[in-house]
Amino acid sequence: MKERIRQILCSKPDGKLIEVEGWVRTKRDSKNVCFLEVNDGSCVKGLQVVADKACFNNDGLLSSVTTGAAVRCRGLLVESQGQAQAVELNLKELELVGPCPSDYPLQKKRHTIEFLREIAYLRPRTNLIGAVMRVRSTLAYAVHSFFQENGFVYVNTPLITTSDCEGAGETFQVTTLDLDNVPRTKEGKVDYSADFFGKKASLTVSGQLEGESYALALKNIYTFGPTFRAENSNTTRHLAEFWMVEPEMAFCDLELDEEIAESFLKYIFSYVLEHCREDMEFFDSFVLKGNIDTLRHVIETPFARMTYTDAIRELEKVNSQFEYPVHWGSDIQTEHEKYLTEVVCRRPVIVTDYPKEIKAFYMKQNEDGKTVRGMDVLVPRLGEIIGGSEREADYDKLLARINELGLNPDDYWWYLETRRFGSVPHAGFGLGFERAVQYVTGVANIRDVIPYPRYSRSAEF
Ligand code: ATP
Ligand code: MN
Repeated sequence: MKERIRQILCSKPDGKLIEVEGWVRTKRDSKNVCFLEVNDGSCVKGLQVVADKACFNNDGLLSSVTTGAAVRCRGLLVESQGQAQAVELNLKELELVGPCPSDYPLQKKRHTIEFLREIAYLRPRTNLIGAVMRVRSTLAYAVHSFFQENGFVYVNTPLITTSDCEGAGETFQVTTLDLDNVPRTKEGKVDYSADFFGKKASLTVSGQLEGESYALALKNIYTFGPTFRAENSNTTRHLAEFWMVEPEMAFCDLELDEEIAESFLKYIFSYVLEHCREDMEFFDSFVLKGNIDTLRHVIETPFARMTYTDAIRELEKVNSQFEYPVHWGSDIQTEHEKYLTEVVCRRPVIVTDYPKEIKAFYMKQNEDGKTVRGMDVLVPRLGEIIGGSEREADYDKLLARINELGLNPDDYWWYLETRRFGSVPHAGFGLGFERAVQYVTGVANIRDVIPYPRYSRSAEF
């Protein structure tokens, strides 16, 4: 494959003839020469292309090359006269591959991130979104390499499902029924037997339940795919469609689960620092100052650990400063999560052993009868980045909990069966992939770390 600008910028200015393809970011004229900055998406920086006007403008070609145009440039790679770059292209041949009219929205001025969201199909051509998407790609690679290096099997769990994993009802229904003429049973209920799957189906909120059954065969597995939640929360950390990484380990308890989550996060953060140096420096300068140092510190320092009960004790001391004061039994919300990790611990913290009432049915119950073996990893600035638990491996206890919560055991029949045949302690967690991208890049809003964000009232493009 042809060399990309990222490599070209590091090569010697030895006057060799090269060809670059890309989009014109800026064009600047002086009396005798014209400077084009050409970017090909391989890095933040573009290649400075210098055209001698005398040689190029006879046929008006150079004037038709405008900001946003796609070009192919052949020329000699030489030492740059300018301060901003080591090498530049002394242009010999120019091809206008795709012209760009003057109503191109990405003219040189700075644009707000909100405006860029409205032109999501063009925003990868900006420095910011380009860098975010390269880091996102590298982070995905790091996720796979961490698990593959450790012998985990990548399992693809279904996106369409008939079991609601979190039991929270935040699902998007999947149906081929005619909504203008819904078939009804004798009792007047929707007749799902006439629907495509013969029963009510939805998009998955998590691949965990299916993932567990594979861990109970392959020992260590992970999923990495899209998940869907119809939550109306209009926050900077929630999407309706997001990607989740869900490892599941058999013969594993909560303590080991915590250890794996910690080393996993440290691995993917280090990987990105090492492999996306230029992009990470860009974020450090223009998005979140000091981010690289913070990440290094996170990688080098052990995460704090705290039980939910201790966390509530800390929070109660300063209850008056919260919008939602807490007491034992309350859910820990973003403001509390931030306080714990930013003020109390001043580093990532793993909070464990939550009241069973605020956690999902599948978490292993502690002997106290009140708490479960769940954990959340909280990080400064974001709050929860990972949620996980040791799973209830005991058939009777699991069934009792399903009944206690008023869930229908028939909906979980196959899941319950896994506890009958060679059940073992097992545990896992879910990392919100976009939250990880937010965390490493410092980008404030989750809508800017996924190409086409989906949230309430928004599925454009
Ligand atoms: P939160 O309390 O932040 O809404 P949750 O407790 O509902 O998260 P889990 O069910 O534990 O989330 O999901 C595991 C992980 O998936 C979370 O730690 C988070 O990183 C991510 N996540 C959950 N919901 C969303 C969402 N709507 N958009 C993006 N990421 C999400
Ligand atoms: Mn959670």
